[in-house]
Amino acid sequence: MIALLPSILREVFGFDAFRGPQAQIIEHVFGGGDALVLMPTGGGKSLCYQVPAIARQRAGHGTALVISPLIALMHDQVGALHEAGVEAAFLNSTLSNEDASAVEKRLLKGELTLLYAAPERVTTPRFLALLDSLFERGALSLFAIDEAHCVSQWGHDFRPEYRALTVLHERYPGVPRVALTATADALTRADIVERLQLEDAQQFVSSFDRPNIRYTIVEKKDALTQMVRFIEREHALDAGIVYCQSRKKVEDVAQKLVQAGIAALPYHAGLDPEVRQRHQDRFLREDGLVMVATIAFGMGIDKPDVRFVAHLDMPKNIEGYYQETGRAGRDGQDANAWMAYGLQDVVNQRRMIDESPADDTFKQVMRGKLEALLSLAESTDCRRVRLLSYFGETYMGPAGSHTFCGNCDNCLQPPALWDGTEAARKLLSCIYRIQQMSGLSFGAGHVMDILRGKVTDKVTQHGHATLSTFGIAADLSETQLRGVLRQLIALGALSVDEFSTLQLTEASRAVLKGEVPIQLRFSVAEPADKRRSGVKTSAHPDLDAPAQARLAALKAWRAEVAREHNLPAYVIFHDATLAAIASQAPTSLDALQGISGIGLKKLEAYGQDVLRVVGLKAAEAPLDA
Ligand code: ADP
Ligand code: ZN
Repeated sequence: MIALLPSILREVFGFDAFRGPQAQIIEHVFGGGDALVLMPTGGGKSLCYQVPAIARQRAGHGTALVISPLIALMHDQVGALHEAGVEAAFLNSTLSNEDASAVEKRLLKGELTLLYAAPERVTTPRFLALLDSLFERGALSLFAIDEAHCVSQWGHDFRPEYRALTVLHERYPGVPRVALTATADALTRADIVERLQLEDAQQFVSSFDRPNIRYTIVEKKDALTQMVRFIEREHALDAGIVYCQSRKKVEDVAQKLVQAGIAALPYHAGLDPEVRQRHQDRFLREDGLVMVATIAFGMGIDKPDVRFVAHLDMPKNIEGYYQETGRAGRDGQDANAWMAYGLQDVVNQRRMIDESPADDTFKQVMRGKLEALLSLAESTDCRRVRLLSYFGETYMGPAGSHTFCGNCDNCLQPPALWDGTEAARKLLSCIYRIQQMSGLSFGAGHVMDILRGKVTDKVTQHGHATLSTFGIAADLSETQLRGVLRQLIALGALSVDEFSTLQLTEASRAVLKGEVPIQLRFSVAEPADKRRSGVKTSAHPDLDAPAQARLAALKAWRAEVAREHNLPAYVIFHDATLAAIASQAPTSLDALQGISGIGLKKLEAYGQDVLRVVGLKAAEAPLDA
């Protein structure tokens, strides 16, 4: 029976082999076991329930129910299955009553292999009655709970409706459940298990490394200009996502990018729903658009060829950062994660936490998470090692190294360091003296003025020129002192309160005593320019000229088909599949069938057309050469 699984992979999806833990997971679920799947974005989670669903249906177990919060994407997900010859449908609020009842009829007749539905729908009496009827006939094959972190308030997309999903387990015992998420932190993971009652489920935890993503974190100077330069240098004509904190900033940045000649669209929750949907559709369907968005955009965006994700503002925590950057390079090809950050980001985020109505324990957790992200930004060693260790994983590099990935800014261009231990002591003792003198706390600007010996009105007013620490760091630039400040906050040796004033903490003492060495990166005026030429702007530079011509012709053909079917281009064929066809220039259906990404249904539907497009270009080739 198990031999069925690889043959489904080949026939339906056109892939040769399961990736990583897929085979184990699929066998386990096919055999009726519950599973919790933790796999990074792009790891291939969908197949972990789609293959068992197809296999269990063939074995007479009926329909699989997929619960997904992503109503906007169900249409494309179902469309992709349909293209592969799998009977699937969705039920959500976008359907008319008529269409919904047509789907219900097909469901009851046992015609569907997979049904997608939103969580709030699943728990309605009407829907449960449908499930009851299937269950009584043994025609409920599997529950897949996608984006399972939505059940947890510690995750980044809490959806209270997910909490009600325990009904599935209680009402339909014996139906296997597979919960999937790309959220890696232990707190959220434990919460998912508890909330969804998955204590007996087998856990499959993949490595969370995304080796094709290059991490770069820069200090903000003029962040927008820095980013435009980054896009122009490395991603001309590529699709990408730019994340900003506020709606207003999204609008501004999108406009500025357009002025800079970069095709960009805004996306945020304040836009008219129709406009928002149109922008999302364009991003998914057209080549090379940049989406400027708040974090409202992107959950579950499964566009595989997003070449970069840029953060113009610092996210809330490492979980969010990793989730958002993970949207780059799902297809496994080179991609960039670029972030600009500054002290102001930290202050803003702190304020949002402090002013939120949440309870103190929650706020404390959130502050800790923010500090962890800041310390990632401030780190001078490998970003990947830090990221993975945050998620409890020890990095295993290709060369067996635990400390060097070779694909992040710090590995590629180790930053010049200076010893900031003395400077940190001066800074902390200055804050201590101010506090001692007046019992008041002040913000970063004023403290730096005192340290650098500047006589401002405020300094005079408070008599701060008489402090023993006045002018003791006159040899340091403001940029250097800011670096020290950020590092101290990252270490937790300084805290910033809701009024942006600096406070000593328990951890200050060890730094004051000189027991904690502080390493700082030299701020160079424009560190990004001098480095790297590694990232390619064209995804397939390895193809020769005739193959490039075939690829262009295939892409044009694909765009036409995608438009006719009202689906994104990648649902028809991935870029990698088209590139393989262009490179091999097959002349028969047999030769075409061997190429990854071409299953039986697609071979039948598109094989002849593809051969024709390739044949035309092959005939022209001698002229091109
Ligand atoms: P996730 O949901 O984990 O982010 P997806 O299920 O969208 O990932 O898969 C990411 C990409 O990898 C998709 O384009 C998918 O077609 C491809 N993929 C998944 N499994 C395989 C496999 N075994 N062989 C080849 N490609 C695969
Ligand atoms: Zn590295």
